[in-house]
Amino acid sequence: CSSFFFPFLHTHTSVFMANFVSSIPKRLEGKVAIVTGGASGIGASTAALFHLHGARVVIADIQDDLGRALAHKLGNDAIYTHCDVTDEDQITHLVDSAVAELGHLDIMYSNAGVINGDDFQSILDADKEKIERILRVNLVGGLLVAKHAARVMVPNRKGCILFTASACTEVAGIAPYSYTASKFGIVGLTKGLAVEMGLHGIRVNCVSPFGVLTGSAAHDGKTADMFEKMMGHVGNLKGKILTAEDVAKAALYLASDEAAYVSGVNFVVDGGYSVVNPTLS
Ligand code: NAD
Repeated sequence: CSSFFFPFLHTHTSVFMANFVSSIPKRLEGKVAIVTGGASGIGASTAALFHLHGARVVIADIQDDLGRALAHKLGNDAIYTHCDVTDEDQITHLVDSAVAELGHLDIMYSNAGVINGDDFQSILDADKEKIERILRVNLVGGLLVAKHAARVMVPNRKGCILFTASACTEVAGIAPYSYTASKFGIVGLTKGLAVEMGLHGIRVNCVSPFGVLTGSAAHDGKTADMFEKMMGHVGNLKGKILTAEDVAKAALYLASDEAAYVSGVNFVVDGGYSVVNPTLS
């Protein structure tokens, strides 16, 4: 897996990295994790990092070629399962087959999401079908994924449910209305579920990124130049563009036992973008 993170390394360096990687403390040893939207972007980086830290990982997505290729690249203890999160039967199958194959489920990372540049930016252009499409994947999908994770976690009285929301829940106007509404919904779901699931020993949190140049950001019309300019306002970042790995590291912390007392939290990973006053830079 070192070549996944360090594809530019030559063989002798890879051997060194392999030794280095095998000596790092594994923060998810013995855990089983499902990552939805795990075939690309933030989900793929997180699945790889969870795997690096000892978790057995199920990558779930609708991009079968990418998902299978990632599972193959990670090797042992990584599998791919097709799952469209808008279809409850497929979610049921995803969870049941993971438990049947891997024994239990400790971490559910509900990360699948969509955003599109043609989503309306003005409420005057609101289109019912576009609104429903975004909400169906991002919000209803997340809710159903959490339902089926809870179904198998509650009897074990432990587990961790994690969502990807967005830093658009912290600052106005950086994403289209329907998308923003779906991600506020995810934050509400996180907090509400944290209360109910807390009674069963299950933690629920979300990570809220902004500015990671992935496929979905490109669909939203974002470019490296735009992100660089936006992040230029954040003094400590000096225009650094956040990476999927930056978000994966936050997800790793929240999924690990180090976060044993962290629940109901919207964990923003945007380098401070959402709290910076641009007039100060
Ligand atoms: P991405 O497009 O690389 O990843 C999204 C993944 O979700 C894709 O692999 C896609 O195939 C999958 N997916 C889409 N619809 C699905 C469905 N119906 N069922 C199952 N899988 C489906 O983009 P990303 O940026 O890595 O997005 C991951 C999450 O992060 C999304 O929820 C997105 O809204 C959120 N997010 C990203 C950013 C950013 O800066 N990139 C910012 C805020 C939030």
